[in-house]
Amino acid sequence: MKCPFCSSLDSKVIDSRLAKEDTSIRRRRECLSCKSRFTTYERVEEVEFLVIKKGGVREPFDRNKIIAGMIKACEKRPISMEVIENFVSDLEKEFQERGDREVDSSEIGERVINKLYEIDEVAYVRFASVYRSFKDVNQFLSELTDLLKEKGGQMKLRGKPDSLINSLSLIKDKTKK
Ligand SMILES: [Zn+2]
Repeated sequence: MKCPFCSSLDSKVIDSRLAKEDTSIRRRRECLSCKSRFTTYERVEEVEFLVIKKGGVREPFDRNKIIAGMIKACEKRPISMEVIENFVSDLEKEFQERGDREVDSSEIGERVINKLYEIDEVAYVRFASVYRSFKDVNQFLSELTDLLKEKGGQMKLRGKPDSLINSLSLIKDKTKK
């Protein structure tokens, strides 16, 4: 802990006690260089909100998990890290501001899918095929057909169309089982 008087990093704790609401620990320190005394507070980082998973299990919201899932879907696609991080930050902020303290994991999944749908068709297919259960694969495939029609008419496929076709045949292989 940096001394506020001389910036030395060496100090010793001379007193330690719980602060008023028991949510932080107050430490009295003495700088080993200049002998000045100062106080630090150490607090537990608050869990902002929980994610409700299938079956009702709750776990703390973890932005890194969402980012990791998106990076995987966007592998070798022209999508910058900045786009992914900004999206997840906005999403996290929105959930915090809503103040519910809990959010359904399916809502997070759908929001990610919608975002990928907007920015990259291959990433969308990859993510959606992993995320959505294969019991409603027919619904998924018809949705995909609509998407391809829509995108085919409105915009050029970015990157090689081959990769999208590969993703599609991968899905078809999986549904055979
Ligand atoms: Zn000092």
